[in-house]
Amino acid sequence: MAREALRIRDLVVEPGAKRRDLLKVGETGSGPIALPVVVVHGGRPGPTLCLTGGTHGTEYPGQTAVRIMTRQLDPAALAGTVIAIPVLNMPMFAARTAFISPIDGLNLNRVAPGRPDGTISELIAHTLFSEILPLATHHIDCHGGDLTETLWPYAAYRLTGKPELDELGGTMARLYTPGIFALFREGTPLTLTSGTITSEAAKRGIASILGECGSAGGLDPADVRTHLDGITNVMRFLGMLTGEPVLREPQLMGVGQFVVQAGHGGLLRLSVGIGETIAEGQELGEIWDVFGDVVETLRAPARGLVRIIWTHKVVNSGDVVLKCWVTEPAPPFTLPDRIPR
Ligand SMILES: [Zn+2]
Repeated sequence: MAREALRIRDLVVEPGAKRRDLLKVGETGSGPIALPVVVVHGGRPGPTLCLTGGTHGTEYPGQTAVRIMTRQLDPAALAGTVIAIPVLNMPMFAARTAFISPIDGLNLNRVAPGRPDGTISELIAHTLFSEILPLATHHIDCHGGDLTETLWPYAAYRLTGKPELDELGGTMARLYTPGIFALFREGTPLTLTSGTITSEAAKRGIASILGECGSAGGLDPADVRTHLDGITNVMRFLGMLTGEPVLREPQLMGVGQFVVQAGHGGLLRLSVGIGETIAEGQELGEIWDVFGDVVETLRAPARGLVRIIWTHKVVNSGDVVLKCWVTEPAPPFTLPDRIPR
């Protein structure tokens, strides 16, 4: 049977073609807010993979990888379809704000699946969940490196309790990450905040993973490469691209997480770096008051791996200064042949 054209509103993409459009989601006083969409509709049948970047508009490496991938893909050689949104959150992209929309004060990654009668962030989520993701079998949300965070790369999937979907999602996360992956699950130390895009997509039966890599509003080519390698690896696993997927090893599994908070305000002088393994009780740094007196010595409450360091150097009482993984060696990896993909 001949493959059909893919349609999203007025965007009609024939098999073997690549097209793009801007989908209006709402309006501001100065004009429309739109989703930039690129569809690469392969000439051969296969999965439909949705790629999203810029959920947080100032996380640049992931969205850049999405752009590069859509430009590289040859629809004639592609098995299946890629529906890519390089930047989901155009208001944040334009305003260069971290995590929160400048229009409605909402975090797009906390309001999924959105609302048709909501504000701009909720309308973006609603458009994604009502018009884009229902077309997809698989999804990768590319994050990492917002203005105020230095981050150690990882990939994650939220377990749903559906064995085949969970095995697929876990495999995709392991093939995406350069080292650490995590399987989030309600009621465990790795509970995901509600309203995240990947968890809501997984609840709807889409194998949807989170890929995180980037640092402090930067656009390091190595971080872009990490995302591109992850996307390529997953697409090879799904049979969309030729070539064998390669697991990047060694891998660690995140099984818990903890934060280190400042008890006092002052200048933070950390003595550990991103990705470092820390021992329980290890000195992590000092907080100085304005004169340089040490008002607090920070110590690790447990053994962990430093996952996020916030870039601000002056902290207030209660501020989180580090977020850490509790890790275990990853279980042996085998490519699951039996699951439909
Ligand atoms: Zn993000």
